[in-house]
Amino acid sequence: MHAHEAGALHADVGQPVPGWLSVPNDVNALLPQLWATGVARQPDGELAVAGVAVSRIAEQFGTPAYVVDEADLRARARGFRTAFEASFPGGADVYYAGKAFLSTAVARWVLEEGLHLDVCTGGELAVALRAGVPGARIGMHGNNKSRAELVEAIEAGVGRVILDSFEEIETLAGLAGERGVRVPVLVRVTVGVEAHTHEYIATAHEDQKFGFSLAGGQAAEAVRRVLASPQLRLLGLHSHIGSQIFDDAGFEVSARRVIGLAARVRDVHGVELEELDLGGGFGIAYTSQDDPATPAEHASRLAEIVEHECRGFGLGVPRVCVEPGRAIAGPAVFTLYRVGVVKTVELDAGARRSYVSVDGGMSDNIRTALYDASYSAALASRTSAAEPVLSRVVGKHCEAGDIVVKDEFLPGDLVAGDLLAVPGTGAYCRSMASNYNHVPRPPVVAVRDGQARLIVRGETIEDLLRLDVG
Ligand SMILES: *Cc1c(COP(=O)(O)O)cnc(C)c1O
Repeated sequence: MHAHEAGALHADVGQPVPGWLSVPNDVNALLPQLWATGVARQPDGELAVAGVAVSRIAEQFGTPAYVVDEADLRARARGFRTAFEASFPGGADVYYAGKAFLSTAVARWVLEEGLHLDVCTGGELAVALRAGVPGARIGMHGNNKSRAELVEAIEAGVGRVILDSFEEIETLAGLAGERGVRVPVLVRVTVGVEAHTHEYIATAHEDQKFGFSLAGGQAAEAVRRVLASPQLRLLGLHSHIGSQIFDDAGFEVSARRVIGLAARVRDVHGVELEELDLGGGFGIAYTSQDDPATPAEHASRLAEIVEHECRGFGLGVPRVCVEPGRAIAGPAVFTLYRVGVVKTVELDAGARRSYVSVDGGMSDNIRTALYDASYSAALASRTSAAEPVLSRVVGKHCEAGDIVVKDEFLPGDLVAGDLLAVPGTGAYCRSMASNYNHVPRPPVVAVRDGQARLIVRGETIEDLLRLDVG
């Protein structure tokens, strides 16, 4: 069984073409919701991003490469901030979830666009600090932070530590006490809502590793212990219900539950919490079947929900935080591959599928294999007048499951040497990349105003050999 981000929606077994996928009228057309805004075909048919042709990127940086449209990523970050600031007059902060994709350049971009930054390990914290992100703008997550990571967070002066266990409350208070500081914290509450792409499940309990259970009374106990600790300053409560969410109904249930706890905190302790963090998970389009809401739509819906729930409990609307990762980085990036071997496989009933091998695969995009995720693809180095054929884009790894794009119609004349682009790969691709089969991880190239530059160098075989000390 795959852990399925999209829930139980894929019941296409037995049909070579999934129900949602239709033969395109124009196989060269780019579906706008899948691509960064700076991506377009040039008059000669070749794909370009911010004015730079993909063949130039391939020549200069090699393939595969993750190609970021810097202006697009910045615009998505800014879009979240302005939308939430507009919908929450009492104040809102947007934390970019660095785990989606983090490099010093990206950390600086989101900082310049007025966002904060979430990290969840010492490694991510180090990147944020190297980028010059002020500690006060950083949130530190993690269900199993080490003592060393907590010390690093305190020494960086992070704006909040998101507490995840009773052990951590004690350890952090102790470390803060030794240093004579008071650390701002949120309590992460598991609210019993699990959100998937087009559905959510609300249960009383949540069977997972993160946070303090609301139903089990652990969240209330965590709040009590934090309030009793002079070394910790409780800012508020945090919940995160899932990823690739399209429908705000899951947020409605989680907000009601977590605001209910805030009301009990007021009743029991006489403390009105300043902040409410609703987490991330805003969905993006990976294929033609996805139609995500805009940040403005999410913000106004969440504002309605939060205001309504706070009114119901007689609470003022707190400062609201959200933590989008995928929705900022995902659509701003495509992966540029070079086509190699192309095979046609005969399926049942005369159907055929073209297997298009590219020079990367599950080492640069594990999501298809890991989550059964769907992606799209387009011929990038030219247009084609050939008939679209049902295709599967596969990698070069020694696994039959090494699939990048499960189902897509691509031109029937694809040949070795063509460039292929897979959009929507900005989140959870480079950040989850591996060296499986000793394949070096690809570079990340940022393009802006006709200029392409490296922001993360690609690995070389030498890099990999250097770790092997014999
Ligand atoms: C992963 C994660 C996010 C970001 O999720 P996206 O789906 O990328 O928006 C935000 N907050 C927390 C706590 C997370 O674990």
